Amino acid sequence: MSEEPRGAGGEKPNPEAQGEADAINWACTNCGYRVEGKLPEKCPDCGASREDFDIVPVPGM
Ligand SMILES: [Zn+2]
Repeated sequence: MSEEPRGAGGEKPNPEAQGEADAINWACTNCGYRVEGKLPEKCPDCGASREDFDIVPVPGM
């Protein structure tokens, strides 16, 4: 038996998991504040800049 390599000419995954456009959460690495969707210019809690935010996985996806 031989395994045929998959990938070339494969089907693209359906974006059915992307129900919402911006299903992204941002977490402030300074204070832990979480923001859903768009990244704010500043952390509303501690005032940290955008660079202090990290993308965190959205629960339930
Ligand atoms: Zn913060």
